[in-house]
Amino acid sequence: MLECVFCRIAGHELPARVVDEDREFMAFHDLHPVTPVHVLVIPKKHVDSLAQWSRADPALAGRLLIKVRDLAVELGVSESGYRLVINTGYEGGQTVSHLHVHLLGGRPMQWPPG
Ligand code: 5GP
Ligand code: ZN
Repeated sequence: MLECVFCRIAGHELPARVVDEDREFMAFHDLHPVTPVHVLVIPKKHVDSLAQWSRADPALAGRLLIKVRDLAVELGVSESGYRLVINTGYEGGQTVSHLHVHLLGGRPMQWPPG
């Protein structure tokens, strides 16, 4: 998936403001933040979206969620609160076809989303 922008960020072929990186995941600031804290967390291995994610390794999904939870602490939004968003597919508003979790925080947010 060399043409995938997030694969290229994960492969250090494209610059990004990286917050955290390990063997499985990478976290970097969104290019167009919508909240004071807006970080994207991706699995390094390409998958188009949550809908395509394999059921084979549920522990991977657990580790991703714990990673995001720990990042919220590091980024200082754990106590004030934050929102996780996984836009999935066309009606979900997904624009980049590589699974990513939006970690949003730093200001109060409304519900429901637009
Ligand atoms: P989606 O709409 O697919 O849920 O979210 C994609 C997000 O990726 C958007 O918030 C967009 O601003 C961000 N984005 C798109 N291209 C890049 C890029 O090249 N670098 C970074 N850091 N963020 C990007
Ligand atoms: Zn990709």
